Amino acid sequence: MTSVVLRDLTRRFENVTAVDRLNLEINSGELVAFLGPSGCGKTTTLRMITGLLLPSSGDVLFDDRSIVTVPTEKRGAVMVFQKHLLFPTISVGQNVGFGLRMQKVEKKEMDRRVSEMLELVKLPGFENRRAHQLSGGQQQRVALARALVVHPKVLLLDEPLANLDANLRLEMRELIRHIQRELGITTVFVTHDQEEAVMLADRIALMFDGVLQQYDVPQAFYQQPSSVRVAHFFRNDNLLGGTRRGDQVETALGVLQIDAARQRILDGAVLVTVRPEDVNLTPNPEAGNCVEAKVLLQVYMGTHTQVQLDVAGHTWLVHGTADFQARVGDPIRIQLPQPRIWLLPVS
Ligand code: ADP
Ligand code: MG
Repeated sequence: MTSVVLRDLTRRFENVTAVDRLNLEINSGELVAFLGPSGCGKTTTLRMITGLLLPSSGDVLFDDRSIVTVPTEKRGAVMVFQKHLLFPTISVGQNVGFGLRMQKVEKKEMDRRVSEMLELVKLPGFENRRAHQLSGGQQQRVALARALVVHPKVLLLDEPLANLDANLRLEMRELIRHIQRELGITTVFVTHDQEEAVMLADRIALMFDGVLQQYDVPQAFYQQPSSVRVAHFFRNDNLLGGTRRGDQVETALGVLQIDAARQRILDGAVLVTVRPEDVNLTPNPEAGNCVEAKVLLQVYMGTHTQVQLDVAGHTWLVHGTADFQARVGDPIRIQLPQPRIWLLPVS
């Protein structure tokens, strides 16, 4: 079991700072997702953890010991890539056993561990197949077995499911989560897909432009995003300007009561947000925190209705029940439930 610490980790390429003073602690046995749009520095960070790339400055620690000067093959961190790089001319068993052969593990022990790993990735008895006889999903599972067979301290997965179709991706996510728990291996999973990160990770590190934006449990990205940009990445663009004074926010639509203890923003200018699924479209007449809005559009989605509203000049998206009915252009009263209001800094 190995903990990983990134300390002020920075990597520059000519005029680009790909990773900028990244500070992160990953607990032993934890699965952390590095999440962010393409080009935000996820792969660069992984490569510095494995040793494929030297940092410009900063440090990487395994179990509190700096490993920056330790060569890749001695770090005990293995990486699985988006494109499986299996050797096409040798068997699946030989592919999986490759790392063990490098370590000069004896044949009998090697065969035992290879079978064990193929069983773990749900490909029992596949030892004698060739890589080109396997589907994309099977090849990715062989790549996973090959990485795990050497009992790495840290497993690094760089968008390993990006090339798979939607159903297979779902199945593979479950398999990865199952194996990771079973082996208790410290794992970093890179993805640009926020849903994938939420499903898999104990904690998510969200990066934009090489800078860590928020490091938290998945729920926090929905309920307590750190900025407008983070909220947007998690599909919440519902915003209303205001001024916070204690447990109230004054807005153009009246005064809202907030749960003061929950907030991170001090008194002054704020942006009020409530997630699409948390706005109440059919409040009781006497309910608190009701504001006026206008229906702009509604789309029946089967399980719910997506309603676009004008809220004091801002466009909000709200999930109503499947049978929600309103006419476009109608004024409606909506409730922003006090426990669901989150205040964001004005950027
Ligand atoms: P991600 O994996 O999040 O898509 P990367 O870590 O691959 O992002 O890249 C981060 C930034 O660093 C990008 O702007 C990319 O163009 C740049 N970059 C990555 N590797 C190199 C390199 N070898 N030379 C120059 N620029 C690079
Ligand atoms: Mg990448």
